[in-house]
Amino acid sequence: ASPSPKKQISNVTVCSRFRPLNSKERKDHGGQVCVRRIDDETFVFKDEKEEESTFSFDKVFYEDSLQADVYEFIALPIVRDVVNGVNGTIITYGQTGAGKTYSMEGPNVLESDDMKKGLLPRVVDGLFEHLASAGDSIKYEITLSMVEIYMEKVRDLFDLSKDNLVIKQNKGHEMLVSGVTEASVSHVLILRLNLQAGIQNRAVGETQMNLASSRSHCAYIFTVLSDSTRDSRGRTGKLVLVDLAGSEKVEKTGAEGKLLEEAKTINKSLSALGNVINALTCSSSKSNHIPYRDSKLTRLLQDALGGNSRTALICCCSPSTSNSSETFSTLRFGTRAKHI
Ligand code: ADP
Ligand code: MG
Repeated sequence: ASPSPKKQISNVTVCSRFRPLNSKERKDHGGQVCVRRIDDETFVFKDEKEEESTFSFDKVFYEDSLQADVYEFIALPIVRDVVNGVNGTIITYGQTGAGKTYSMEGPNVLESDDMKKGLLPRVVDGLFEHLASAGDSIKYEITLSMVEIYMEKVRDLFDLSKDNLVIKQNKGHEMLVSGVTEASVSHVLILRLNLQAGIQNRAVGETQMNLASSRSHCAYIFTVLSDSTRDSRGRTGKLVLVDLAGSEKVEKTGAEGKLLEEAKTINKSLSALGNVINALTCSSSKSNHIPYRDSKLTRLLQDALGGNSRTALICCCSPSTSNSSETFSTLRFGTRAKHI
């Protein structure tokens, strides 16, 4: 038989990932799961009422998936492109506790156990490997910035005194966080230590202000400048990894004050993100308006999502029936992002 035709891959890849049941879900809910595997792209989802629906994504990572598999499918192609001057974005979406940070960082960014290492340390290794393999003909520089977006304010995670940064577009249509700290990193270990420092700062800042990290978005912004000594043409690739705020619905009746404002702001920025990705994947709307300006998050990601770029969205889910309504809403977000 002739091989099946190669699948059309749009520049937005949407995956879902189910973490293993946690001990509470195993105990309190009899270990009931809401997902039944069909294959690597399709599963049947069962809601609380036992009603079934089928979901398909570019890839489905089940509870037995390896961190390395997630990296290879999602991040490796993007890392290769970034080194060649193409922008990339990797986003984790889902309710709090669904596995966003675990997918992004692993237990921590300095983790060396290959079973546990998350996307960030692998991306860092991948960037340096690709640049090293280019040899002496290319000079390069990698910079890292880390920002947190909370209540539509952008905070510098390398300098907590910069707590309301402005996002601007330069003449080359690149999005810049005006005045943000850019750590120039020449070595893989230094880069990892910088990441660790940013993550620690985030926790410190949040403790000072009594905030929960699940209520803010965190963006890791890598810039790769490469200069070929042959033709002396500089190229810049930007890679942004985003660990989003939890997508869970806050009880309409219970929440008030700060909690309600937080929930509304998160909701608004997540739907703005959905709208932007949808507008980008919608082939018929190429000429249409893309609503980047509707949130700080989409504004920050404008040049990483649109134009010459690749985007991957990982929809993180609990496999437990007890979380099925949040999981259903996460899967719907992913489906909407994917639909052409
Ligand atoms: P989120 O960032 O979405 O709030 P976390 O990434 O912190 O969720 O995950 C919640 C808990 O589940 C953590 O204890 C984490 O270690 C664990 N976990 C998440 N995903 C996995 C996975 N794929 N394999 C093993 N443990 C996981
Ligand atoms: Mg998290």
